Amino acid sequence: MSASYDDVVAWVRAFAAEVESNKEYLTELDAAIGDADHGINMNRGMSAVVGKLDEAASDQDIGALLKTVGMTLVSTVGGAAGPLYGTLFLQMGTAAAGKSELAPDDWAAALEAGIKGVEARGKAEPGDKTMLDALLPGLDGLRSSLDGGASFEDALTASAEAAGQGMRDTIPLVAKKGRASYLGERSAGHQDPGATSSHMLLETAAATWGGGGESRPEG
Ligand code: ADP
Ligand code: MG
Repeated sequence: MSASYDDVVAWVRAFAAEVESNKEYLTELDAAIGDADHGINMNRGMSAVVGKLDEAASDQDIGALLKTVGMTLVSTVGGAAGPLYGTLFLQMGTAAAGKSELAPDDWAAALEAGIKGVEARGKAEPGDKTMLDALLPGLDGLRSSLDGGASFEDALTASAEAAGQGMRDTIPLVAKKGRASYLGERSAGHQDPGATSSHMLLETAAATWGGGGESRPEG
């Protein structure tokens, strides 16, 4: 199985819908350790992305599509998350340039390129209590499942589960980057908002491409 252009569009739409339904939740998480705007920021950006998708030229180029998503996020979302999510999608787009479908290894390569972009831009390290703490385990879960011979579907589920664990593991961490770091030790005891939205990103990929994400009921 691989993800087609239409599958990638469906994933971006599913992520936008997930962000919209969880916009209050993401904002509440950010209220605890930031400035209470992560849900608002992400929803503003992803709504603009959905508007762009409707008018995007359907030339089946997944790379171009992901770059459009990234540029739209950069231009519509302020704060830390806009440039960071923008970079994530722009670098995924560069890695997927000219492709009309993503085989499992193409998706792993695109995700890795996106994460490297986030690392280069934000200079955060694992354990700094950021979106990377969901994305990096998500990539590791994907890669180790694929290396172990898992199907794309199962590897996507493993990726989403690992990202979910990484997200929950941000709770005790003391933030070292971003606004939450201004709180020092007081940032501990709260789940990171960016790690939460990044888990949604990988969870919706599993749900859309794998036919079932970790939160889907069995059966
Ligand atoms: P802002 O902090 O500017 O209000 P948001 O609230 O939208 O922006 O996003 C906050 C999230 O951004 C944090 O929860 C964290 O996951 C992520 N973040 C902040 N700084 C960095 C960084 N340097 N590297 C990676 N992620 C970061
Ligand atoms: Mg904020």
